[in-house]
Amino acid sequence: MEKAPINWTNMLLFTITPACALTLVPLYGFMYGYDLFEWLVFVLMMGFCGMSITAGYHRLWSHKTYKAHPVIRFIFALGGACALQNDIYHWASDHRRHHQHVDDNDRDPYSAGRGFWFSHIGWILRNYPSASNDFSNIKDIQRDPIAAWQHRNYLTLVLIMNIGVPALIGWLHGDVLASLLLAGLLRLVLSQHVTYLINSLAHMWGWQTYSDQSSARDNPVLALITYGEGYHNYHHTFQWDYRNGIKWWHYDPTKWMIRVLSWVGLTRDLKRCSPQQIEQAKLEMQFQHATKKCQSLGLPEDWRVKLEAEYEQLLHLIQQWSEHRQAWYEAKGKSIQETLAKLEHLQLRDTYRELHYKLKVQKKRWQEMIRLLGQPAVAMG
Ligand SMILES: [Zn+2]
Ligand SMILES: [Zn+2]
Repeated sequence: MEKAPINWTNMLLFTITPACALTLVPLYGFMYGYDLFEWLVFVLMMGFCGMSITAGYHRLWSHKTYKAHPVIRFIFALGGACALQNDIYHWASDHRRHHQHVDDNDRDPYSAGRGFWFSHIGWILRNYPSASNDFSNIKDIQRDPIAAWQHRNYLTLVLIMNIGVPALIGWLHGDVLASLLLAGLLRLVLSQHVTYLINSLAHMWGWQTYSDQSSARDNPVLALITYGEGYHNYHHTFQWDYRNGIKWWHYDPTKWMIRVLSWVGLTRDLKRCSPQQIEQAKLEMQFQHATKKCQSLGLPEDWRVKLEAEYEQLLHLIQQWSEHRQAWYEAKGKSIQETLAKLEHLQLRDTYRELHYKLKVQKKRWQEMIRLLGQPAVAMG
């Protein structure tokens, strides 16, 4: 098959910048050294670019998982230009196509099915037909005056953010070149590759916790360097959720930032997927895996029957629990006189709690069963 034509702007940019970063940055460091302040600016600008992409380009503009105050959108637009990952229009349009046609090698602009290199950066270096400039899927974004302003002034913003700002900070601090090398160059190259890892590695390395309909994986290690975007299987399964790591202890600083901003009114309408849907998706995957395991181990039929019975019961409990949870939360919101007599109110609370407990016990049994299946010697015994 004939190769797509090379995109020379990108090819030069993505060859020269890493080559310079790999040589000039250590060379200058060796000859003159960098001080703590310069490293601090580097780290802060990494975070600024990274989170503008994850919270802004990705979760806000591409997926509309929450709404943000114009001030916040303005900051994200600047940070996005600083990250040099194209403007919001192109980024979101490509990304929506990625979700819509995920793993379709002809239509997903960075389909992981075409290999690590292609999904990481190869797709940017040539003009592939899958990365078209068709903006028909981002009409809503085109109506956002801040996104439109960034689109019109993209090149100017890129130069100001990548050269002007680091140079100014360096001038104020007393070493323009050191600042340009660390906060400018090294930061640019690293922050780009961090984002690209989500398109490449997050579709190859990790667990399919919620769905095996796409190649997307959950990977807590990757979340550490991608500002929380490593929970990519969850994200592809429930893309309208503003969170990627859903447990409080999941490292997802993007989620924490969006949440904290909502407390002061700078973000609002944070969307979350219902716990019932999440639990069901997870259970479904576990059941599928366990059934396959039973088959591959050649376990007796009664194992499969038992497994199915436990699965059905757990599913039933999740549904019941979810219904009662909703009823209880609704009742809690209203005054007692308005809804139910006090006794009924208490009863509702108790049944909800009881179901909550039952669900916990059933889940434990289920997990024990899955664990046993993972240890063939025990399972056979
Ligand atoms: Zn996405
Ligand atoms: Zn993806």
